[in-house]
Amino acid sequence: MASHIVGYPRVGPKRELKFALESFWDGKSSAEDLKKVSADLRASIWKQQAGVGIKYIPSNTFSYYDQVLDATATLGAVPPRYGWTGGEIEFDTYFSMARGNASVPAMEMTKWFDTNYHFIVPELGPDVNFTYSSHKAVEEYKEAKALGIDTIPVLIGPVSYLLLSKPAKGVDKSFSLLSLLPKVLAIYKEVVADLKAAGASWIQFDEPTLVLDLESHKLQAFTDAYTELASTLSGLNVLIETYFADIPAEAYKTITSLSSVTAYGFDLVRGTKTLELIKGGFPSGKYLFAGVVDGRNIWANDLAASIRTLQALEDVVGKDKLVVSTSNSLLHTAVDLVNETKLDDEIKSWLAFAAQKVVEVNALANALSGNKDEAFFSANAAALATRKSSPRVTNEAVQKAAAALKGSDHRRATNVSARLDAQQKKLNLPILPTTTIGSFPQTVELRRVRREYKAKKISEEEYVKAITEEIRKVVELQEELDIDVLVHGEPERNDMVEYFGEQLSGFAFTVNGWVQSYGSRCVKPPIIYGDVSRPKAMTVFWSSKAQSLTKRPMKGMLTGPVTILNWSFVRDDQPRSETCYQIALAIKNEVEDLEKAGINVIQIDEAALREGLPLRKSEHAHYLDWSVHSFRITNVGVQDTTQIHTHMCYSHFNDIIHSIIDMDADVITIENSRSDEKLLSVFREGVKYGAGIGPGVYDIHSPRIPPTEEIYDRITKMLAVLEKNILWVNPDCGLKTRKYAEVRPALTNLVTAAKRIRNEL
Ligand code: GLN
Ligand code: ZN
Repeated sequence: MASHIVGYPRVGPKRELKFALESFWDGKSSAEDLKKVSADLRASIWKQQAGVGIKYIPSNTFSYYDQVLDATATLGAVPPRYGWTGGEIEFDTYFSMARGNASVPAMEMTKWFDTNYHFIVPELGPDVNFTYSSHKAVEEYKEAKALGIDTIPVLIGPVSYLLLSKPAKGVDKSFSLLSLLPKVLAIYKEVVADLKAAGASWIQFDEPTLVLDLESHKLQAFTDAYTELASTLSGLNVLIETYFADIPAEAYKTITSLSSVTAYGFDLVRGTKTLELIKGGFPSGKYLFAGVVDGRNIWANDLAASIRTLQALEDVVGKDKLVVSTSNSLLHTAVDLVNETKLDDEIKSWLAFAAQKVVEVNALANALSGNKDEAFFSANAAALATRKSSPRVTNEAVQKAAAALKGSDHRRATNVSARLDAQQKKLNLPILPTTTIGSFPQTVELRRVRREYKAKKISEEEYVKAITEEIRKVVELQEELDIDVLVHGEPERNDMVEYFGEQLSGFAFTVNGWVQSYGSRCVKPPIIYGDVSRPKAMTVFWSSKAQSLTKRPMKGMLTGPVTILNWSFVRDDQPRSETCYQIALAIKNEVEDLEKAGINVIQIDEAALREGLPLRKSEHAHYLDWSVHSFRITNVGVQDTTQIHTHMCYSHFNDIIHSIIDMDADVITIENSRSDEKLLSVFREGVKYGAGIGPGVYDIHSPRIPPTEEIYDRITKMLAVLEKNILWVNPDCGLKTRKYAEVRPALTNLVTAAKRIRNEL
C-alpha cells in the first residue's frame, strides 16, 4: 500500500519564506538570498516526506507567491500592462503581477474555493500569446531528483486554470475562456514533455473545479483536454486530483472514463458521497488516491475509522491500486506541531499539523500493508477518547443558550431607514462620510510592545501607555486628515480573530500554527476545541479610551461570529452552526457592553462570511440561514441610535446580496477596487440597498498610492448607481499591512476626493 501527499505548506515551520520575501521586497536582501531560503525549505520538506516513507512526494507545490500565478507564468500569460517582453519570467515581472508596482496595480486576487487562501486570477483574452515562460515545474523536479528524491510534479490542471480565470480588461465579458483550451494545451504539452525528459514517471493535475456544479460544456472540456493531451501523456502515470467537496456524479463519470488518466484523487473527508460513487464503480486497473487525512484541519485523524474506510475501498479497487492520501493540499493546515511549545499536552495529543499528517498517512499505508505500528495506533485511540470525554470541551449552560436560538428569528425592531435617521441626528455626518476599516499600520515597534507584554517583559502599565500613545497618534492623524468616523487603529491586536479568541473560552492558541493567506501573509487560526463563552469584556477598555481622545464618533471594532468561525480551526465534533451560535452570543454581550460605554458606532466585521459558502449550490441556503442569523443575533439588542457597521473583504457578492441585505446592518463597507466593480453591477441591475454602503475606493493590498483623480472617478461611478445619501467613502480593507508613508498620502487623496465631490453635489 502506497502513500501520497497532495501538497505541502511552503511558508516554512517558522514562516521562513515570509521573512525572506519581505526582506527581498524591502531591498534588504538579494534575489539569491530569497532563492536560497526557498531551496532549503523545499529540500527539508522533500527529505521529511522521504524519511517518513511517503511514496508519492509532490514537487512544484512550492511557490514564491501563488501556484495559480505560477501557472500564469508558465503559460506566459502576463497582462501587457506589466511590460514583459518575453523570455523566462523573472522576479520583477512575477512580483509586479502579484503585488503591483509603482506604476501599475496588481492583478486581482480572490479566494481559493472556500479556503482563506487567495490566488491571483489569470486575465485572459483572444490575444494572449501563450508561450512556455517559466520552467519552474521541471526545475523543482530536477532539484528534488538531485537530492535523490523522485517526486510527482504537480500542475494546476488546464481546465481548472481556465475556469478560474477571467476575461482581461477590454475583452468582452462573454468571451469563452474555454475557447483558449487548445492554445493552453499546447504549452502544457511542452511542460509535460520537459518533465518526461527529466525522468518524471507520474504527473499530478490538480483539477479542483471538478467538485463544483459545472455545466455540461465545462465537463466536456475535461474530456477534450485529457484526450488532446493523451499522446504526450502516454508512458506517464497521470493523477487527476480533486478536493474540497464531493465530486458530482456526472463529473465522476466524465473523469473516470478518461483513458489518458491512470489515477484519481478524491477528498474523502468532505466527500462522503464520493465514497458511495467509488463503491458504485471504479475503473479497473486504475489507482485511487484516497484522501482520508484532513488537509483542512488540525485534528488528529481517527486512524481506526480511516482503516475501515480504506479496507472497504481495497475491496473495490484492489490492494495494489489503493494509495493513502490527504484530502487536499496540506497548504491549508498548520506546518508542524513540534514547534508548539505553549499548548498543553492534552490538547496537543488531539492534534496533527502537516508534518504529523504525513506520518499519519504513512502509518495508515503501513497498517494496510500488514505493518501496523500498534503503539502509534493505540496512542491515537487514547487521545481521541480523552477528547470525547474531556470536561474542558463541554459547558452545559452555553450549549443550552445556543440551542434555544435555533428556529427563532432575531431582528432589530425598527427598519433600517428609520434607524439611519435616528443615527444621523446623533452623529451629524456630512454626505459621503469618510472612514477606514479599522487597522492602521502595524509597526515593528508595536509588534515588539505586544510581544514583550505577552512575554511579561514589560509591565501592564508600560503596555497600556504604549498602546494608548499609538491610539493617540492614529486619532490625531485621522483628525488632521479630517476623516469623519474614526477608528482606534487596532494596535493591541495581532490578528482580528486571534485577539477575540484569546479572550474567549473554548479556544486554544498555537505559537507557530501559521497558514498562508496570500503572498507572504499568513494567519494563525485559533483552535476552537470546546464550547465558547465570554468571561469578560474584550474591547471596551480600548474603545472607550479611544473615544475619550476625540469628539468625532469612534467605531467600536469587533470581529463577527461567522468570521471567527471561518478563520478558526473549528471543532469537528458538532455542527459548525452550533459553534457559530455560541460565538454570536459572546459577541452580543460585547456589543451591548460597548453601547453601554457610550460607543455609538460599532463595526462587526464579517470579512469571511462569503468564503464560508459551501462550494455546492444545494448547500448555500442552509449556510446563509444560520450565518446571517448569527450576525443578527450579535446586534439585535442595541438601540436605534447605535449604528452597526459590518465589513466584508471581496466583492463576489452578487449571488448572496439578498443575504447581505438580510444581515440588516446599518452600514456595510466592502471590498471593491480590485474586482472591476462587479459589486456595483448588482445595484446597476436594480437591487435596492437601503442601508449605508462603502465600496472600497482603493486597494490596500498594494503599496501603490491611489491618485486623487482615480478615487474621484471611482466615487463618481458609484454615485451613478448608488444614492448619495447612503454612500460612504473608505479604502477596501484595513491598513495594517501598509506603511505610514503609503497610508498618509492615500488617505489624504481619499478625503480630498470625497470633499471635491461633496462640493459638487
Ligand atoms: N477591522 C479589520 C482591519 O481593519 C478588518 C480586516 C479585514 O477585513 N480582513 O484590519
Ligand atoms: Zn477587509
